[in-house]
Amino acid sequence: MNLKKILVLEDETSIRSFVVVNLNRAGYEVVEAGTGAEAFEKLSRHPDIKLAILDIMLPDTDGFEVCRKIRTADPHIGIIMLTAKTQEMDKVMGLMTGADDYITKPFSPAELTARIDALFRRSENTAGVEAGEIVQGPFRLNTRNRTLEKDKARIKLTQVEYSIMKMFMDNPGKALSREDILNTVWGRDYFGELKIADVNIRRLRLKIEDDPTNPTYITTVWGFGYKWGL
Ligand code: CA
Repeated sequence: MNLKKILVLEDETSIRSFVVVNLNRAGYEVVEAGTGAEAFEKLSRHPDIKLAILDIMLPDTDGFEVCRKIRTADPHIGIIMLTAKTQEMDKVMGLMTGADDYITKPFSPAELTARIDALFRRSENTAGVEAGEIVQGPFRLNTRNRTLEKDKARIKLTQVEYSIMKMFMDNPGKALSREDILNTVWGRDYFGELKIADVNIRRLRLKIEDDPTNPTYITTVWGFGYKWGL
């Protein structure tokens, strides 16, 4: 079973542990961060994070700024802000653009998991309505008309390149063997050479990478295949 992954950004270790323990108990997988910088690093390493819990007062930035940046990169991720009783709620609400919900400290484990479950239910419903799009980082793949955008600019793909992109974006962070790519994109009865996968991926890199000579989205897994990540 694939556990839903949640990012918890909180610099106070006692509160963070409290949240982590309770989320684990509720069956969620948790990725922890203590600073804004660490949060972004973890998000890029775990593109399958579905929800982020963000504290507001952080050592290197504030939670609102982190929220804004996450939201810009990913319109679908769920975001819950952790607020303190001492914070003025008017101000918090005004700054909360992009967040889906907030929880005021101190909170009970039951309250925490109830909010998270509710948000997941909501985002699953929205995902149903908006099925047909995969958005990851600057990339937006429209699976209805089989098109790709990077930073809102259309990238022209062949059908094979599109199928490879779709396979990558369906499997973020997972090393895919050249055989897997060949089987999925060309079909199991294709008897061509594995090299065709390499040729197409080289061409795909020219189209989607910031610097194709130093690819960062499609990375090579030596002796095995390729991996998609942000
Ligand atoms: Ca804090």
